[in-house]
Amino acid sequence: MSAPRSTPATSDSNAPQHLPFDPDALRARYRAERDRRIRPEGSGQYQRPVGRFAYYDEDPYAEPLPAREPLHDRVDAVVIGGGFGGLLAGARLRQAGVDSIRVIEKGGDFGGTWYWNRYPGIHCDIESHIYLPLLEEVGYVPKWKYAPGEEIRQHAKAIARTFGLYRDACFQTQVTELRWDDSEFEWLVSTDRDDRIRARYVVTASGTLSQAKLPGIPGIETFEGHTFHTSRWDYTYTGGSADGNLHKLADKRVALIGTGATAIQCVPHLGADAQQLLVFQRTPSSVDVRGNRPTDPDWAASLTPGWQQRRRDNFLSLVTGGPADQDLVDDGWTSSARLHQKLIPTGNHRDLPPEERERAEEFADFRKMTEIRARVDAVVDDPEVAELLKPWYRYMCKRPTFSDSYLQTFNRPNVTLIDTADSHGVEEITRNAVVVGGTAYEVDCIIFSTGFEVGRSGITSGRLPVHGREGITLTEAWQNGPRTLHGFYSHGFPNLFQLGPLQNASAVNYVHVLDEQAVHVAEVVAEARKRGARYVEPTAEAENAWVARIHENAVDVYTFHAECTPGYYNNEGMPRQRGESFADGPVAFHSLLREWRANGGVREVLVDAGKERA
Ligand code: NDP
Repeated sequence: MSAPRSTPATSDSNAPQHLPFDPDALRARYRAERDRRIRPEGSGQYQRPVGRFAYYDEDPYAEPLPAREPLHDRVDAVVIGGGFGGLLAGARLRQAGVDSIRVIEKGGDFGGTWYWNRYPGIHCDIESHIYLPLLEEVGYVPKWKYAPGEEIRQHAKAIARTFGLYRDACFQTQVTELRWDDSEFEWLVSTDRDDRIRARYVVTASGTLSQAKLPGIPGIETFEGHTFHTSRWDYTYTGGSADGNLHKLADKRVALIGTGATAIQCVPHLGADAQQLLVFQRTPSSVDVRGNRPTDPDWAASLTPGWQQRRRDNFLSLVTGGPADQDLVDDGWTSSARLHQKLIPTGNHRDLPPEERERAEEFADFRKMTEIRARVDAVVDDPEVAELLKPWYRYMCKRPTFSDSYLQTFNRPNVTLIDTADSHGVEEITRNAVVVGGTAYEVDCIIFSTGFEVGRSGITSGRLPVHGREGITLTEAWQNGPRTLHGFYSHGFPNLFQLGPLQNASAVNYVHVLDEQAVHVAEVVAEARKRGARYVEPTAEAENAWVARIHENAVDVYTFHAECTPGYYNNEGMPRQRGESFADGPVAFHSLLREWRANGGVREVLVDAGKERA
């Protein structure tokens, strides 16, 4: 167990003669690297996999369910989404005494992102002991510090079994409409299987990174070889499993497009097994040391009740710059904690004058990224390749990654890195090749590791229409921006609870955040049932006050994002002016929720609460 390592640099160590970098040169280099990647069309450079690529949306893991009779019944709660958000909502509602809970999920089983993503090498880069939820309730201790995807998926299923969520679940089913029935005080939930389910409460937990996206590369649809997206890995084509041994690639020339967090994990396996691997990179990721190791059985045996909450709270406090007398997780996230605050505001360190704080943060960032670049030189044999693999931007401009085998893969003779920054990405795809800088690289297969649409759930985009009281849709109610109380519920949409990052506080250990949200929703529902409330709905005044508080206190993340290399964190180089996060960060937000509940705040959102039930 070690002490927190994210101490600010002292003013002496920030004196020019002591710096291992030239701040002005770095600022200029970062700006130049950003400028050569900015594309005027921003997010418009991407497309959904439709037409020739429609199969990217299919489920390769489950046989299509035979047609079933549509459901025309009534449940206490419908939960939309069977990933960790939905599982946590289901589990916490169950603990709160809700009996009939129906999880509706597009996939063939529980797991969400861990159901869809099964690419070789998949692991969670957040420590398993704090990431996997409900470990004590399920009675499980993960086997590794960073868990492989399959272990996480099995844990998701174990949660569903433990809390009886399989009983009423509907898989391979998508909700197509939510309509509030003001005469019965319940939701009418329609699905693509013609279900018409009545539900007292609806919780939406449909995830933030679920819709795969493809770059709109000219000619992409003309490619005649094999293609797939990493979130639908085609093991029939590659052979092997998430553990590797992709033996069917032994005679294949494979192109991988993209070098984000997913590519960092699958490249080592592709490099080991493909006859030839061509990695098409536009922006290199920062790749820090991983150091995965088995869970120490003595440590596991020594755990006492409440251990997981204590460990998660300790991590959350550390990565948001709060107090902690020890660093329980002690990894690349906690050691870089101070740098996260550029992305996730916390209100900490505001005691320092703004200029001093900015300088300390920027120099800590320069130090970290200088180390990351030095690691590339230390690992990669060919200096020209090493140069291309170095990230030139601030640490939280893109999701940091961790690997002890990614950079090493570029030392293999069958692996080639092709940099596409000068052409803003791959220029063209032809019948049999990927074109960059006028050179056509012939390949048999293209794997798109090009990420996901971010932050647009079905509900916020309008793809899943939500008709509230008097038929008003949520998109109409939100035409000037999201409007919620605490991020969960909106005026005019009774008994509808949204889990997600809007108008509350997020964190890198996102499942922890989801759990705090699920606990809150379950306690509000329990209180509503106990008091016999007709429904739960914030007043317009309470909603206005929360939205105003979010906007008035918003921390300026625009300036930081505007200087970043493009990516989904900054809306592809076009950062939004207005933040929708609680300015004081997740620790303060969770305390606020707890106090609100303890002080009877719940009564503010209960409509027509009658006499307390026995
Ligand atoms: P990303 O969006 O992070 O990466 C997409 C990649 O595709 C980028 O490298 C991008 O380059 C590249 N790209 C896009 N268009 C082109 C083009 N036209 N030509 C060349 N390259 C192109 O997707 P990922 O799937 O890697 O990761 C998404 C998120 O999923 C992560 O950020 C993380 O939140 C989550 N994740 C979490 C993991 C975990 O362990 N917890 C593991 C894996 C993913 P550029 O950067 O220049 O835009």
